[in-house]
Amino acid sequence: MLQSKNKPPIVIAIDGTSASGKSTNSKLVAKALGFVHVDTGAMYRTLAWYCLQQRIDVQNAKAVAAACRRWKTALKCADGHAYLVVDGYYPAREIRTAEVSAAVSHVATVSKVREWMKKTQHECIKFGSLVMEGRDIGTNVFPETDFKYYLDAKLEERSRRRAADGIQENLAARDQRDSQRAVAPLMIALGAKVINNSQMTSDQTSATILADIRKRMAEREQAQARKPKAEAR
Ligand code: C5P
Repeated sequence: MLQSKNKPPIVIAIDGTSASGKSTNSKLVAKALGFVHVDTGAMYRTLAWYCLQQRIDVQNAKAVAAACRRWKTALKCADGHAYLVVDGYYPAREIRTAEVSAAVSHVATVSKVREWMKKTQHECIKFGSLVMEGRDIGTNVFPETDFKYYLDAKLEERSRRRAADGIQENLAARDQRDSQRAVAPLMIALGAKVINNSQMTSDQTSATILADIRKRMAEREQAQARKPKAEAR
């Protein structure tokens, strides 16, 4: 673990396109650092699933915002992962269906939903240092962090990865909706290290991220050490 107990929590932001390896690599990085892993896509998926359960039209922004206002959720943390439960239940398998994948980027366009998600994602800090994956973590949720990564891979490679998981999905359509929405669209955060992992294994990708984290951490400590004492206090 890179961090001592009395230092403020650190957030590692890992954003990127669909099936670019965010989940696999975020988990590997979180495990290596002893940080808590947060899959914010799962939070949006949980809301999409809830809307489908409640027969709410996911393209009706007002109805989705109202559902997000009234659903009963709690943040939990177990085995190094933080996640959202609804009415005490975490729909782990249900949120991965094709139906939820098709619905999720619609609920993610609703600005009230994004406000709610940002607030809830900030609350995860109570669990300690985080590796948080998503689409807007480095740009919108924790823009102040020094540790930002943007993962991408060729569309054919990403589609192949999804198919290998047994999922057929129009990734290009979801990426387009995520990149073109008005609020907090998917984009590369200022200062993010961009990693195209089309030709890389997850071990190589996570090792690249970890090496960069260590480098940035050392630079940060050197900068702190150079600060005059009064300023550092
Ligand atoms: O990462 P995953 O593919 O599970 O994300 C599902 C969807 O949730 C994305 O396509 C996007 O519409 C939305 N999302 C988002 N912002 C995040 C995380 C996910 O808009 N930080």
